[in-house]
Amino acid sequence: MKDPVCGMSVDEGSAAAAWEHEGTTYLFCSVGCMRRFRDDPEHFLSLGDDERHM
Ligand SMILES: [Zn+2]
Repeated sequence: MKDPVCGMSVDEGSAAAAWEHEGTTYLFCSVGCMRRFRDDPEHFLSLGDDERHM
């Protein structure tokens, strides 16, 4: 799946961080991206709506 903050491709093996939001676990390339998402998840989810259904 894609890091919803920066758009990088990440998988469970390469993700540096993960965050669960509304029942979906999102993976991130770095802890910094995870923190940005955690602070304002709706903002990042609204950028890439098609990524939400994976
Ligand atoms: Zn990232």
